[in-house]
Amino acid sequence: MGEAKEKLLGKTPAELRDVCEAEGLKPFAAKQIAHWLYVKRATEISEMTDLPKAARERLSQRYRVGREAPVAETRSMDGTAKYLFPGAGGLEVEAVMIPDKERATLCVSSQAGCKMGCRFCMTGRQGFHGNLDAGAIINQVLSVPESEELTNIVFMGMGEPTDNLSAVLKAIEILTAPWGLGWSPKRITVSTIGNLPGLQRLLEETKVHIAVSIHSPFSDERAGLMPVERAWPAKKIVDLLRNYDFAHQRRLSMEYIMWRGINDDLRHAEALARLLKGTDARVNLIRFHRIPDFEGGPAEQERMEAFRDRLNALGVTATIRASRGEDIAAACGMLAGKDKGEEQQ
Ligand code: SF4
Repeated sequence: MGEAKEKLLGKTPAELRDVCEAEGLKPFAAKQIAHWLYVKRATEISEMTDLPKAARERLSQRYRVGREAPVAETRSMDGTAKYLFPGAGGLEVEAVMIPDKERATLCVSSQAGCKMGCRFCMTGRQGFHGNLDAGAIINQVLSVPESEELTNIVFMGMGEPTDNLSAVLKAIEILTAPWGLGWSPKRITVSTIGNLPGLQRLLEETKVHIAVSIHSPFSDERAGLMPVERAWPAKKIVDLLRNYDFAHQRRLSMEYIMWRGINDDLRHAEALARLLKGTDARVNLIRFHRIPDFEGGPAEQERMEAFRDRLNALGVTATIRASRGEDIAAACGMLAGKDKGEEQQ
């Protein structure tokens, strides 16, 4: 009856103290359990050998560690690997590991599906199936085969992180705390479409890098691609970002997917440079990966280069991001998970 047991993974030492208290364990056992979960990476309570045997047995009656291995794995020609994890609401979620010279970046999911409805995104097409808790986010980091080699984490998988903010903030705390994985926040990037209150909390409560999906500097056009523009216009997002320092400790990137004939001309580059004036944002230009029933096609390489060069000439650092994992549908905007109702292929 393991399913009925509560997970320990995703709990902070304060929450583990409550568990210890309820189970009659000494309060300091909370620190030991956190150490086993996040430093020693235990997968079973029985491994926590500095807890008395009776305490382990008692804990095991109501709790489990909560580590879950990927249920499927696909590997790209370029070394990118896509892992499928149990998600929420019957939809499995995907994490993508992207090797790049001495870096290994894991792109994690924060929700099963997404409510935001961006028209160019496969995840958005699926609607929303549920939030991942902090344990399910951390599980992706600990349970991919390359876990020990990871150098960077990006919250760019399925879901909008600011729409599941409490779990994302808690996962960041576990990733960065000395009692947790002890990572520098400089190794973590959260990508958002710019829900303003959520973005503000991320800016105030963490030191992670921020990436904002812009995709068009023109409000009407952006609203046609991303309904969120009507609630939180890009201009307001940039106004908020101007209040923060991105020149030193943390980095601000603007994600800009390029579609042929939609947003790839120099008029857009110039408007984007005007929009970003006064920020230290750099721009990542991303080649679009076709998805069904979206009219836009990928911009041509020469147009992307001209766009990049114009931004650079206007004082905005811009780079064309290399596309990874397209052959296994692991590239930006392609993550779709797998509904448990779907047939395995
Ligand atoms: S691009 Fe991001 S926010 Fe938009 S639908 Fe896809 S997952 Fe959601």
